[in-house]
Amino acid sequence: MDKAAKQPIKVAIIGIGPVGMIMAALLKQEGCEVSLCVRNKIKLNLIKSEGIRLEGKMKATVLFDQVYETMDEMADAKVDPDYIVFALKSYQIKDAAQKALKLYTDKVTIISAQNGIDVESLLIPVFGSDKILRMVVNYAGNLTAPNCVNVNFFTPPNYLGSIDDNRAEKAAEFARLLTDAGLLTKDVNSFEIIKRIWEKTILNSSLSALCGVGRLTMAEAMADGDTVELIEQIINEAVVVAEAEKIRFPDDFIRSCMRYLKKGGNHFPSLAGDVINNRQTEIDYFNGKIVEYGKKHYVRTSLNLAFTNMVKAMTNKNITSRVPGAAGVVNRNIVQKGIVRNKKSSIVYQGGPCFLGVDLGSAYIKFTVIDDSQNAVFRFIIPTLNKERILHRQVMQAIHSDFDIKYSCATGYGRKHFIESDIIKTEINCAAAGVSRDFKGAKNIIDIGGEDIKIIHCDEADNVLNFYMNDKCAAGTGSFLAEIAERAEIPVSEMSHLAAQSNYDKELNSFCTVFAKTEIMKWIFDGISIEDTARGIYLSIANRVAKMKLVPGVPTVMVGGVIANHSYLQSLLSERLNQNILVPDEPQHLVSLGAAIIAQKAWTRENNQLTTEKKSTDNESVSR
Ligand code: ADP
Repeated sequence: MDKAAKQPIKVAIIGIGPVGMIMAALLKQEGCEVSLCVRNKIKLNLIKSEGIRLEGKMKATVLFDQVYETMDEMADAKVDPDYIVFALKSYQIKDAAQKALKLYTDKVTIISAQNGIDVESLLIPVFGSDKILRMVVNYAGNLTAPNCVNVNFFTPPNYLGSIDDNRAEKAAEFARLLTDAGLLTKDVNSFEIIKRIWEKTILNSSLSALCGVGRLTMAEAMADGDTVELIEQIINEAVVVAEAEKIRFPDDFIRSCMRYLKKGGNHFPSLAGDVINNRQTEIDYFNGKIVEYGKKHYVRTSLNLAFTNMVKAMTNKNITSRVPGAAGVVNRNIVQKGIVRNKKSSIVYQGGPCFLGVDLGSAYIKFTVIDDSQNAVFRFIIPTLNKERILHRQVMQAIHSDFDIKYSCATGYGRKHFIESDIIKTEINCAAAGVSRDFKGAKNIIDIGGEDIKIIHCDEADNVLNFYMNDKCAAGTGSFLAEIAERAEIPVSEMSHLAAQSNYDKELNSFCTVFAKTEIMKWIFDGISIEDTARGIYLSIANRVAKMKLVPGVPTVMVGGVIANHSYLQSLLSERLNQNILVPDEPQHLVSLGAAIIAQKAWTRENNQLTTEKKSTDNESVSR
């Protein structure tokens, strides 16, 4: 492209998953004016501040100045694209196409950059077939951060064709653009593009569903004689259907498919990833289409039918309980269990704006929803290492279907991997915000969780002054406590009660879990009673905490899962520190409460800013 002589070509990309991100970065680097529609707020903010980063087979960091949350915003900003690329999942297209009508002009060309048979037909009712180019995408990647893709696959070329040959010159132009940008793409006629679509779909369908149902990576599926036989039969069926549709492949097609699939790496195909993570899949446009066209031509497609229906049954089972509004039994149970029935203030949620805080701790994930007055209206807790990640999704679904969540904040050890929240903040800030709701002014906060102990100092205005964290070893943390108690055969739920019956003053010499367990064995052999052992374990922890630096002369508030389940530590620490240690209600949820409060403040700030900006533009238009 002669960049100096020509106006840059304007490309709007809708759908910023790996396919859209790779294309966006390379086209922008090539000199196109690229605008992005990014619905996820965290991704949006990261792309605005740090750009899109490509790693792996392609390397680039590309900054963007046209990043929007909605297509309405794109239209307001008058992006006026020459091309609109849809790089979304097929089931997101219908809705997105309607919204993209705002960007429609006579000159615009629409590109369907999804794989699967007939996916372009979802765009035809909205834009008309003469506007649409269909792309066969032969590159892929996986996200390593919301704004970062590891490009792990590119088998050139991609193909691009006008679906009724009306826009062949546009297909040629955009293919040239992609090729110059480093994504070799061939423009082909409407017959050739259909053949390439079928070819790609057959390749995808042969492995994806099987890998999803069998939890196999591509390399694993291709290394096993039994699955290879299945794969070959799935392709065989699809080829017979394609031939009935008058799509002819070379004689060695199946053999070359198998050779191609053998190169598949040790990762999951995208559809398999969706099955494994209980997400909606595009199976209807892969194996499902082979079945549909098979029925049209009276060709039996038993294997494709089996995998299509199996995948659908698996995802339907998980998705029904996640349908917004129609909260299923699971949703209702979660809400019933988590809803706060506050005996003191009789606050019951009656509707209105709510804010969600999620604390992804090393041991437990805590959810807190607050109303506009910062009252907790819902709390829930699940183990972090719950193999059934579905439970996590169900809780999120239940929350979103029953509360009008305006903004959310994630915190804790796993916060960076939780892309469903609007913002993320450290546990330090969230603990300070949560505690400061009821304990205003200068204070120490002690937070003992599963894997660490934190001491936080807040000033008069509730701001964090500094903090200390012991996170290098498990000494004195929740997991240490649980392991030692287990070795001593003390039921954790009774430990505080047992310790309260003792006056024993011996503590453990070692904080290394392994040595501490050996010491406990010795206590048992020495005949030390269970009550004395329980107090001895608590004493060791209290003494460890007492050695950490607290600001003198200000109140100390204790939060976290350990104090929530080991009330004896409150009196013991009060004794050791010579001050009355305060413990708020629901101490394990204080950090998620703080996250919800931070979400509320961020939302209020943004809204006020919008109102102020609106007022000032209104004033400007008046004065003009
Ligand atoms: P994190 O934020 O690191 O996940 P938490 O503040 O949730 O940590 O506290 C986790 C710790 O709290 C556990 O390691 C355990 O010691 C204690 N704990 C939490 N729930 C329970 C329970 N139901 N019974 C006993 N102890 C518990």
